[in-house]
Amino acid sequence: MAGEESAGDGALARLLARRILIDGPLSVGAFMAEALGHPRFGYYMRRDPFGSGGDFTTAPEISQMFGELVGLWCVDSWARLGGPGPFHLVELGPGRGTLMADALRAAAVLPLFRDNATVHLVETSPALRERQRQALQPILGDAIQWHDRLEDVPDGPTILIANEFFDALPIRQVQKTNHGWFERLVDLEPDNSGSDPRFRFVLEAFGSSGSRLVPDALRDAPEGSVVEVSPASQAVARTIGARLAAAPGAALAIDYGHAHGPAVGDTLQALRRHAFAPVLAAPGEADLTAHVDFAAIAAAAKEGGARSFGPVEQGEWLTRLGIRQRAAALAAKARPDQARDIGSALDRLIDPAQMGRLFKLVALATPGAFADAPPAGF
Ligand code: SAH
Repeated sequence: MAGEESAGDGALARLLARRILIDGPLSVGAFMAEALGHPRFGYYMRRDPFGSGGDFTTAPEISQMFGELVGLWCVDSWARLGGPGPFHLVELGPGRGTLMADALRAAAVLPLFRDNATVHLVETSPALRERQRQALQPILGDAIQWHDRLEDVPDGPTILIANEFFDALPIRQVQKTNHGWFERLVDLEPDNSGSDPRFRFVLEAFGSSGSRLVPDALRDAPEGSVVEVSPASQAVARTIGARLAAAPGAALAIDYGHAHGPAVGDTLQALRRHAFAPVLAAPGEADLTAHVDFAAIAAAAKEGGARSFGPVEQGEWLTRLGIRQRAAALAAKARPDQARDIGSALDRLIDPAQMGRLFKLVALATPGAFADAPPAGF
């Protein structure tokens, strides 16, 4: 971006290098948190990373059908929770605001839903807040509230959605050695010049965090194994669980990851211009994500007081909610070239070889809610 120093000139790398020189190696989680969320140079903070000109594309950016079906899920869940009544419609990490815009359009099927909803967007990036304002102002006017953290959303009945939010929260990694579990850290390469620092993975010296972080179920994994845990994701899930325990509500988390984790393996990845990039090479300039551990999210939400449903694969869930019928209806009104685009978007979202299997959903809800049948699609 014009004018001042930007992440593109390695400013964040130099800043992290100075911090490592002073304080010692960073946890993978601290490196990831700074690379994505540093107030000046973090990846999300100043840019719009989505779409064909960006680094990656998410489901709502592939097709309006995705947000529409999520919107219908919200309407159905709200009605079944004993609406009508005022409630908070919360989205975590709304990106360009596309999902919320499509969801609200589809939610027009039940005007009472829109009339009772107050929209809250939990977003740390000023650049993306601006994009969200542009997408949602035509629908909501000025009645949009932004927050830095879920904790800042007022108490009350809640419908919450989060698409590709948890995969952007920091993970920590531990590795089994012949002396036990050690946390993986990010250090400087020994021959560093200072102006163009390079980073490498090392193991902590004593294994104290490693043995504390490793889940009991994986303690006996073979030597060399890497295990990932995301205390940050678990904290958010616990907060969601506590909200849903305190007032009626439901939440839908959609992401890529393991259904029955925590799995063994290093899944930290960097994406730049739609291609994989080395994870430590350019902090702030590439998207960094890791597989989401859905079992850990569900367990943390339960600790908070909620119940959980799923995970179910995205292809399955969208099919159960009627995406094929919606695609056919849209295609019937479209030009032949647009109809082809609708068909390929449908494939991308539901085909098991594309997003259909890797992406999954969990629903969280107030205990006692959905007693007759699970939330739609679960
Ligand atoms: N849901 C959108 C965007 C996914 S990308 C979509 O599906 O297209 C991740 C989003 O989460 C971005 O909007 C990013 O700025 C936001 N984000 C990342 N870390 C966050 C945090 N700790 N708190 C709030 N928002 C965060």
